Amino acid sequence: MRTLRERQGSLKWILPVFILILLACAASPGNTVKSEKTVIVLSMDGMRWDYPRRDHLEAFARMAEKGLKAGRMTPPFPSLTFPSHSTIATGCYPNKHGIVANSFLDVKKHKRFTQSGSTASDLREPPLWVIAEKAGIRSAVAAWPCSKGEWRGTSPTFFRPFGAPGWDTGTLRWILDQLKKPSSRRPGLIMAWTSGADHPGHLQGPDGAKVIEAERRADHLLAGLEKGIEALPAGEKVDLIVLSDHGMAAVNRVVDVVSLIPKHAFFPYIAVSGPICNIYAKNPAQRDAVARALKRLPPDVKVYEKGSLPPELHYLNDARTGDFVIICPLGSTFLGYPGRSGRRKAPPKGMHGYLPEIGEMGGIFYAEGPDFRVGSRPKEVRAVDVAPTVCKILGIQPPPEMDGTALKSLR
Ligand SMILES: [Zn+2]
Repeated sequence: MRTLRERQGSLKWILPVFILILLACAASPGNTVKSEKTVIVLSMDGMRWDYPRRDHLEAFARMAEKGLKAGRMTPPFPSLTFPSHSTIATGCYPNKHGIVANSFLDVKKHKRFTQSGSTASDLREPPLWVIAEKAGIRSAVAAWPCSKGEWRGTSPTFFRPFGAPGWDTGTLRWILDQLKKPSSRRPGLIMAWTSGADHPGHLQGPDGAKVIEAERRADHLLAGLEKGIEALPAGEKVDLIVLSDHGMAAVNRVVDVVSLIPKHAFFPYIAVSGPICNIYAKNPAQRDAVARALKRLPPDVKVYEKGSLPPELHYLNDARTGDFVIICPLGSTFLGYPGRSGRRKAPPKGMHGYLPEIGEMGGIFYAEGPDFRVGSRPKEVRAVDVAPTVCKILGIQPPPEMDGTALKSLR
């Protein structure tokens, strides 16, 4: 038998060890948030701000009645799919998150960025799903641009890749399956990309018949999601944000910048993304030759040297912005490279990528759920404001690098 003194001796260790365990629990992982709610960010590519009312989309009209509807979602510059989705996910402009176009060059890594090869590691700032996971909130991500793989060691708990079977309807079922999980496994953040009305918008222009068909499919998808959420026991804890990355404008002119520039090797590298073109020169002599060639562009095409970019564009990224940035005016777009056959694709009838303030570049922003005030009608929601808003709802401190601020119309 141990003496009382021996017992007291061993008890002396228990308290400090207990305190150490408590401290370890509190410190790991970081600022763990306990939340029962789920925020869904559903993107519908290329849905212009005025489509739902213009074409009498019923599910959108119902959603507006039940919550918040913004006059427009203002994309970053350029108003292109990959830069805009990256801004929505990081709360930062392209100068910080680094996705400066749908196609560009990272001169420091000597690496081309392409849409099909994109991964989360291409982002220079953490996306929402990483911020959530680090705060102890599970995330689920479907087909979001630049979401594949890890971001500095962290990836979403649940992932559905771009082009997975069933496309948008498969994504809808996948979202509802996430919500049906028991609270111990249910994600607190779901981010999903769907095709919206982008592809037919490029093909036929914003007034094309196929655009309206695609809008109706998006409306049907939204109706299915709302119905699915309402049927769930945890449905009333779900906040749903439906947005798009940009609008669409009619195009009636193409500008051939590629043929204008003398090119015999990899450099000068010409990266065309619709109405935006980044050109990278190898040395000062090449830069001068490019500058001379660009003087032959039509006068309404804007040419910026890297150092003279207007700061309000938030576009200057050391490694990724071209030595020259060229921007077409509304209604024009750059002709891309010829394909393997030597032929070029037929010019599009619709395009986006222009300055975000231009009316046609506005996207949609709708939100409903316990955290959004019914009847709220802000004139605009900026793409940079989405991530801070989601952080606020989930009770996460947003990283200080974020350029946006949380919406004021939260409950
Ligand atoms: Zn898009």
